[in-house]
Formats: sequence, C-alpha cells, structure tokens
Amino acid sequence: MKTKILLDESKLPSRWYNVVPDLPAPPPPPLHPGTREPVGPDDLAPLFPADLIAQEVSGERYIEIPEEVREVYRLWRPTPLIRAHRLERALGTPARIYVKYEGVSPVGSHKPNTAVPQAYYNARQGIRRLTTETGAGQWGSALAFACAQFQLDCEIWMVRASYDQKPYRRSMMQLFGAQVHASPSPLTASGAKVLADDPDSPGSLGIAISEAVESASPDDTRYALGSVLNHVLLHQTVIGEEALEQLAMVDEAPDLIVGCTGGGSNFAGLFFPFLREKLQGRMNPEIRAVEPEACPSFTRGRYAYDFGDTAGLTPLMKMHTLGHDFVPDPIHAGGLRYHGMAPLLSHMYELGIFGAEAKPQRECFEAGLLFARTEGIVPAPEPTHALAAAVAEARRCAETGESKVILTALCGHGHLDMAAYDRYLSGEMQDHPLPQSRLDEALSTLP
Ligand SMILES: *Cc1c(COP(=O)(O)O)cnc(C)c1O
Repeated sequence: MKTKILLDESKLPSRWYNVVPDLPAPPPPPLHPGTREPVGPDDLAPLFPADLIAQEVSGERYIEIPEEVREVYRLWRPTPLIRAHRLERALGTPARIYVKYEGVSPVGSHKPNTAVPQAYYNARQGIRRLTTETGAGQWGSALAFACAQFQLDCEIWMVRASYDQKPYRRSMMQLFGAQVHASPSPLTASGAKVLADDPDSPGSLGIAISEAVESASPDDTRYALGSVLNHVLLHQTVIGEEALEQLAMVDEAPDLIVGCTGGGSNFAGLFFPFLREKLQGRMNPEIRAVEPEACPSFTRGRYAYDFGDTAGLTPLMKMHTLGHDFVPDPIHAGGLRYHGMAPLLSHMYELGIFGAEAKPQRECFEAGLLFARTEGIVPAPEPTHALAAAVAEARRCAETGESKVILTALCGHGHLDMAAYDRYLSGEMQDHPLPQSRLDEALSTLP
C-alpha cells in the first residue's frame, strides 16, 4: 500500500491545459468599465504583458511551458500525491482519500505555479517592476519569490488587517526582496480616499487591488493577479496533470474531486485535466467546490457583471459575486475572502459542470486538526474547507460501505497560521453565517 505517490522529475508537465475549447460555449467576455464594450488586448496592455494577454483569450487546448519556467518549477515539482491511509483509518471509512500536496513549494502554497510564469513573461517583455495586492500574504510571498528568480522589482499592497496580524508573511516577502505597504495606504488616490473616510480601515482585498492597479501605470511596470483570471487557472493545471498521472500509477480514478475556492485557481488547476478525461468518457468524477459560509460566492452570490476591485478600476467581469463593496467577516481562511469568483469557473458552474457547498469555519478547523494529527501535515485554513468536505463524504461512506475514491488538493501548509489554530484550540473561534440583509445590501450596488 503506497503512501506517497511520487513522479520523477522527467514527468514534470511540459504544457498547460486550457479547458476553454472543450466547453460547449465560451465564457462571456470582460467589459470595459467606461464604455461597457468587450475589452480588447489593447485595453489590457497597460496591465499585463502580451504573452499573458494571449493566454487569457487563447482558444488553444495546450500551451507549452517555457523551459525557463520549468527550470524554476523543478525546485519543488512534481509535488507528492499522498494517500491518507491514517486519516481513513481514523474515520473507519472504506473510502480512499488522495491529497495532492502543494505545500512543498518555496512559499508553502500553490501560488508560485502562476507567479513564476507571470514574472517570466513580464521579464521577457522588458518590464522592470510588478505590483500586486495580497490578503493573507500567500500570493504576495509567491510573487516576491518569482520576481527574485527573474530580477524584477516587486511592490505589494497587503490588506492592513493581515499586515498587522501576520508579520511573518510580510517578513517572507521582504526576505525575497519585495517592498510591502499596508493597504489602504496614503500612496495611492484609492487608498487615500478610503483613509479619509476611515483612518482605521482594516482594508480589504478589493481596496488593495485598486491600489496595486493604480500603481502599475509607469511604462516599465505591470500588475499581477494571483487568482480569478483565465491565465492563472491555466498555469495551475500542472497540479491536475501530475495528479492524473499519479493516480494512474496506482490504477485509480476519482469518484469525487473537492477543492476550496477563493478566486478558484487551485480548484480549477486540480480538476480541469480530470474534466478533460471525463468529457472524453474515460472517467466520471463528481466535482465540487467548497467555499466559506462567510463568503459564499457560488452558493449565494449573483451571476452578474461586477468589478474585481472596490474602486471600480478593473474591467467588469461576469462572475458569481457578493458585490464589489462586500467586506466578508474576518474568518481565518484569508485566501477565501474575495467577493467574486473566476469568470471561467462561474460560467462552468452555470453550465452545471460542477457543484458547490459552503462550510462554517469551525467544521473546517476540526477537519484540519484531524488531518494534522493523523497525517502529520498542518493544513492552511483555506484547504481545511475541502478537507472538511472530504471527511464528511468519507464518513458517509463509512455508513453506506461505499468505497469511493476522493481526491483533493492540500493547496498550502498552515505553519504561518498558528494564531488561527490557537483560536480554534482555545474554543474562542466563532462561525460567521452571512445574514441575507447584508448580502442584499452589498448586491444593491452592482453596476
Ligand atoms: C490564495 C489561496 C487560496 C485561494 O485562492 P484560489 O485561487 O481559490 O486557489 C487557497 N488556498 C491557499 C493556500 C491560498 O494561498
């Protein structure tokens, strides 16, 4: 009985998989915030390099991974697929649980899978500096690491609440050479405006995005986004391509794929290659997104055009949204506190390609703790949502005797999230169900 299913370095994927040409209909285009016409490549050029814009709108099924990117990927890829025998035993379940572990990356999450190619394509176009936002600090540290690989400057707006609560994520960004500001900051017009209204604002991802986008205006500077966009989902498919090979090595195919969704990139990266196999009739997994009940974009959001940020600087994207003014309660899964969802995933959800459920955070931490005690890996708060769904399914299997194969991505470790575990262990952690009135209010300002 294998515990770790490892791929040889020679099996590192050589191409990313683009799911768009395999869908029955393409997703609706992003719209210009001023004209409300579909945005063209020229509109995006001030923000992103040409190669990434081409990937954003690509109709090609496969895109070659540049050798310079694969060379950096080899620092930690291929990542292990773990059969969670000890968790299964603790649950007394006949289900077989497989976990694709992305916590072995240089910053402890899946984010470098896209940060590295984003930095590479910018550097190749002669860009000198990247700006971005970060919530909990995972994306910021990934981009800081990636910029260090290609000698780019990196400037990061970090949501004030996390800046104060997670000093070690900030240290990691600085260690990799980035410059970090607490957001809202007085350095940008969007930040200054928020501070004028509320000098003690804890910030939000939407505000930090406005600041980073605003700061990307000089010619040698571009902006980078860590989730949501098509090219980000594309880069993350290395997760699923490897997992597909690894499961084949032990003659397994998943019956259920679950993933946590903030902007949707680790979930998409895991399941897109399996969906390709499903569409070709080679397997038939059920696919399910798991989101926090405090920020339930799929299960309670509206499918509508909305801004990606608070100030309304980004293109309008058709997506499941809670409204760009929505500020979620301060749950510990910082990476899942985003008002919107990837437009590509939102489109696929409307097509019925996968399902979704929302979980309260205490159930998630309970699963995280069980996973840590059985498998010896402390999960980040975000993937505990997917683990909680896997555990619930495995418990159902224990009752029915069904021996399902469950696959999930453990998209990050929680070594820098001990304050969250402290709160859970002390019994102080609260759930934050979202009152309908707050949701209605946030949705009332949709453009
Ligand atoms: C950023 C992050 C997420 C949320 O982003 P997705 O694009 O939905 O994957 C989830 N887990 C971890 C560990 C993260 O760093």
